[in-house]
Amino acid sequence: MNPISYATGIDRAHLGMIPCAFERAWTREEAVMEKWKPKGEVTKGEAFILKRLEKKRKLFGFLRRHRNEIFDEAFQSELEEMYRDTGAGSDPVPPALLAMAVIVQGYLGLSDADAVDATVLDLRWQLVLDRLGETEPAFSQGALQGFRERLIAHDMDRRLLERTIEFARATSEFDWKKLPKTLRVAIDSSPLEGAGRVEDTINLLGHAGRKVAECAAELLGWPLEQVCREARAPLLAESSVKKALDLDWSDPAQKASAVKSLSVELENLKGWLGSQLAAEMKKPPLQAPLKTLAELMSQDLEPDPGGGVKIRDGVAPDRRVSVEDGEMRHGRKSKSKRFNGFKRHIATDLDSDLILAGAITPANRPEEEAAPELKRDIEHLGRDIAELNIDRGYIASPLVDEVLGTGGQVVCKPWVARNGNSFAKGAFKINLRDRTITCPAGETEHIEFGSVVEFDPEACDRCQLRASCTAASPGTGRTVAIAENERLQQKLRKLQKTRAGRAKLRERVAVEHRLAHIGRRQGRRARYRGVRKNLFDLRRACAIQNFETIQRKAA
Ligand code: SF4
Repeated sequence: MNPISYATGIDRAHLGMIPCAFERAWTREEAVMEKWKPKGEVTKGEAFILKRLEKKRKLFGFLRRHRNEIFDEAFQSELEEMYRDTGAGSDPVPPALLAMAVIVQGYLGLSDADAVDATVLDLRWQLVLDRLGETEPAFSQGALQGFRERLIAHDMDRRLLERTIEFARATSEFDWKKLPKTLRVAIDSSPLEGAGRVEDTINLLGHAGRKVAECAAELLGWPLEQVCREARAPLLAESSVKKALDLDWSDPAQKASAVKSLSVELENLKGWLGSQLAAEMKKPPLQAPLKTLAELMSQDLEPDPGGGVKIRDGVAPDRRVSVEDGEMRHGRKSKSKRFNGFKRHIATDLDSDLILAGAITPANRPEEEAAPELKRDIEHLGRDIAELNIDRGYIASPLVDEVLGTGGQVVCKPWVARNGNSFAKGAFKINLRDRTITCPAGETEHIEFGSVVEFDPEACDRCQLRASCTAASPGTGRTVAIAENERLQQKLRKLQKTRAGRAKLRERVAVEHRLAHIGRRQGRRARYRGVRKNLFDLRRACAIQNFETIQRKAA
């Protein structure tokens, strides 16, 4: 196949923090992108390093041995497609080499700068990238960042994860033929703390206001202090609004007056910008920080009947918690444990142990919202889901209906209906065919899915069992909620009551183990800001996890 030609001219902003061998090609009129062709046979020098990698950091050895199969001609052509749509220009470093570097960077958890250095200083990197003995970096920080952005823009991080599954299928050591044709998928999620700083309302508003003032200062070429002075917003010139106000923050009156003072200064700043930079306010770079400030003011402040504004009573829906990362949200691990950031979701094939897909959602979103994205990625694999193992958070997802609709099985713990010391829902007999519910005293009512049924108040008033059934006041009958998916809930209750059913429910533990590995690899805190970049990082972690699974199975 002929090399693809690319005209020069894009991505220049990302190039050149550290000079590298490949980048010198940019002096030519037209750069030519060769495919990455690392050698196959192991040299004597490589054998020595591979021996040292047999016990620790074994994935380096795996990637060295299989790099030509992972990055075969077809996959390299796909990676090159990322450069075609711009019509001109590209980075002359082979995309496959950069893709390998992205994997190794995720494996070691290095920054872009350290990854660049590692291509010169770390023999393991040089081994995998086929650059033993090279004294210049394989690429620059800008090239690595630009490549990551391309992967995200073209959804090729999804392909990178998918490629690990294709590779597993093609590997004879990984006995794919014995596995079923359909998938048994398990889905689970874990918290991912966001990378942005979370602040209380006063610091959040002060931070957002300062960002606006800094941007205005940059546009005007003035010092920040001058902008804040002219705009009558001196608090924003300080590194911390709370420090500048120096109040007793435990005193509600002082705190309330501080909110009013800060809000006046923020309004002053907006008004001053309207007179000085009216046109700039509607376009980048000033538009974004102004939008953030407006969002924070509207979500956290409300009119005070006594004059001015006060901190809003209660929490605004979908409240933004960080100036730097607008997509982070408050979430809960349990009733008492909270976190700020995102939820990472993965879907695992229970038979092969491979991770099939990943998704990131803001921490306040219900689990079920990740299911369509996971399903879309699994569909790319071209295999049907015959069994879906989930926890209760995903049960309301349309994916559940789809799996059931195609004759598949859903394995999940049923909802637990408790009612204090009174009869629980389980004490009532539900007949789904007749659509009736019968109480312990033998009273029967008609049911509708997704509604609450109330027993005849007169029957309940005279019932001998009333004290054990309801605490409602006389004249009100006992109520029982009938789920929209009551039919499924009934099935799940039956499943949980059998030994085989409980064993099936325990199979989900495999996805919990995968998720724990991913959590250790990614760490507690997100590496990037925003949903999409963190999805890239999750997919990369999943791809690395899959390589380790293939390596373990082949051992
Ligand atoms: S209180 Fe009403 S619902 Fe409960 S057992 Fe008696 S009749 Fe049935």
